[in-house]
Amino acid sequence: MSAKIIDGKAIAARVRAEVASEVEQFTQRAGKPPGLATVLVGDDPASAVYVSGKQRASLEVGMVPFDRRLPADASFEQVAAEIERLNADETVNGVLLQLPVPAHLDGPALTEMIHPLKDVDGLTPINAGLLSLGRPGMRPATPLGVMELLADTGVELEGAEAVVVGRSNLFGKPMAQLLLAENATVTTCHSRTHDLREVCARADVLIAAVGRPRLIERDFVKPGAVVIDVGMNRLTPEQAGNTSGLVGDVDFTCVAGIASAITPVPGGVGPMTIALLLRNTLQAAQRQARIEG
Ligand code: NAP
Repeated sequence: MSAKIIDGKAIAARVRAEVASEVEQFTQRAGKPPGLATVLVGDDPASAVYVSGKQRASLEVGMVPFDRRLPADASFEQVAAEIERLNADETVNGVLLQLPVPAHLDGPALTEMIHPLKDVDGLTPINAGLLSLGRPGMRPATPLGVMELLADTGVELEGAEAVVVGRSNLFGKPMAQLLLAENATVTTCHSRTHDLREVCARADVLIAAVGRPRLIERDFVKPGAVVIDVGMNRLTPEQAGNTSGLVGDVDFTCVAGIASAITPVPGGVGPMTIALLLRNTLQAAQRQARIEG
């Protein structure tokens, strides 16, 4: 078997085009475009690249970006005050705090300060709670992006065995909840799971978000399974050779020989995160203006 390669770039482009057209309609009806604010504390180069990507993408779909940067030694109170200003600013519909924040700051406590209606990352306790109760709310963008990719494959989730490797608040837990909401039978694995290989091999849908290069090998995968690789692991220049230097948690070459569909890294889950963040921002603006799309 040779797996279908799930083209995250193309699917993300389609989502972004849909968002752009809905932003145009929203702007006409509401009299102002949606605004997305990013808060970056410090000068971590990877975080700066992510933030610039989000700024650029929001501009491209017709939103107004707000770029707030604070020095690496900013106090908790300074960051909190910036978040409060953005919460109160009616031209801002979505607020996201780029994580991780410098070690002296309490990232979860700062995230919790974002107004739930503006929490486009879906990481505040209110939105996490709404998700776990199965009630409407903001969902984290990366798991939402994975749901879009799964929909594109046509895989039937109802009754399917879904295995999520990783239980982070950012990804693994909300991913499991979204699959459960679609009536999959969900197992969440983590570093203490006994016999990861055996559990993964039961999966009709296998999702890896671990941060360990090529952990998922061919014999972890049931023939015909759909495999989604969320991992983004940077190789050293020596390891990378002439590749992009980015590898997932799945041994792509081996697993593509047994799965029915698989995401590549790069070009799979990665492009979906920003696309779904934009959709979340549009929905936040619609809810705040009480205009449904
Ligand atoms: P994280 O917070 O470090 O969580 C990693 C999870 O993997 C933990 O639950 C950990 O278990 C589990 N784990 C670690 N080693 C394991 C092993 N040997 N066997 C089974 N489980 C193991 O990471 P994260 O934020 O969820 O991110 C995971 C990966 O996805 C990273 O590579 C990250 O870069 C990537 N990611 C990509 C995107 C995107 O936009 N494409 C978005 C988010 C994350 P314990 O809980 O027991 O420690």
